[in-house]
Amino acid sequence: MLNGGKEQMYILAKNTRVAVSIGLGAVAFMAAASATTGIAVNAGWICRIQIVSLILSAGIPMLAAWGIVTYVFGRIYCSSVCPLGTMMDAASCIGRRTARRRRYFHYRHPNSRMRAIFLIIMGGGIVIGNTIIVTLLDPFFDFNAIIEGAVMPACTLGAAATGAATAVEGVIILLIVAISAGRDGRLLCNTVCPVGNALGLISRHSIMRMDINTDLCTGCLKCVEVCKSSCIDPSSHTIDSSRCVMCMNCAAACPNKAITYTSTRHRLQKPLMAT
Ligand code: SF4
Ligand code: SF4
Ligand code: SF4
Repeated sequence: MLNGGKEQMYILAKNTRVAVSIGLGAVAFMAAASATTGIAVNAGWICRIQIVSLILSAGIPMLAAWGIVTYVFGRIYCSSVCPLGTMMDAASCIGRRTARRRRYFHYRHPNSRMRAIFLIIMGGGIVIGNTIIVTLLDPFFDFNAIIEGAVMPACTLGAAATGAATAVEGVIILLIVAISAGRDGRLLCNTVCPVGNALGLISRHSIMRMDINTDLCTGCLKCVEVCKSSCIDPSSHTIDSSRCVMCMNCAAACPNKAITYTSTRHRLQKPLMAT
C-alpha cells in the first residue's frame, strides 16, 4: 500500500499513535483525577466514547461507529482510545527497560476459550444488571479505579485521601495491570478484557490489517519481538488480526519492509524452501 520511504511512514504512524494515545490518556486522567481533587475539567466527552459506557447508556450511533471503524481499520480503539491500554503500554515499556535482561515478546497461541468465557460473563453481567461484574470488567472503570484509588493518593502523599475500599480496589487493579503488562504486554487485552474480545470478533474480518509479505521476510523475528499482542506467528507468517491492537511496532521494526498495513492479502510468490 505504501511504497517509497515506507519504513519512515510506519515509524511516523507509530509515533503519531503514541502521541494520540498519550493525549487521550491525559484527558482521561484529568477527568478521573477531578473526582478526587475537585478541580472541574471539561472532559466528560472522553467517558462518552468508551464502549462499556456506550452500551450502558444505549449509545447506539456511537457504538455502531466503533463497529464500523473496527471493521474497516482494526482495533484503533485499543491502540489509542482506551486509557487502560495506554497505561498497559507505559507499564510494558517500563518493565522491558528496567528488566535485568532485555525482554522480548514472543508468539502466543490465542486463548479462545478464556476470551469467550470473559465475554459471556460480561454479557451476562450486563443483561442481569450486575454492577460488580460490569464495573470490574470495564477497562474504563478499572482505569478510573486505579487513578482514584492508587495514583492520586500516591501523587498527593495521601492528601487526596479516598475510602479504604476504593484504595484497596485501586491498588489491586493497578498491581494486576502493571505486573501483567510489565511482563507480557497486552496479554490482558487478549484474554480477559471483554471489550477487546468483542472488538476482536470484528477485527478478525477487518478490511485493513497488518500483513506479511513472505517474499520479503527473512525470518529475523524482529517484528515478533516487539509485538505487544504476541500475535505474529513466525512459523506461518501470519498475523492474528483479532488480537492485533494496531500499534504499528512490527512494521516500524521490520528491516525488510515486509510488513504492511493493507487491504490485500499477500500470496506467496517464492517457495520458502527450495526443493
Ligand atoms: S483490550 Fe480492553 S483494556 Fe485493552 S485496550 Fe482494548 S479496551 Fe482497553
Ligand atoms: S521483521 Fe520483517 S523480515 Fe523480520 S521476521 Fe518480521 S516480517 Fe520477516
Ligand atoms: S501485529 Fe504489529 S501492529 Fe499488531 S499488535 Fe503486533 S506489533 Fe502491533
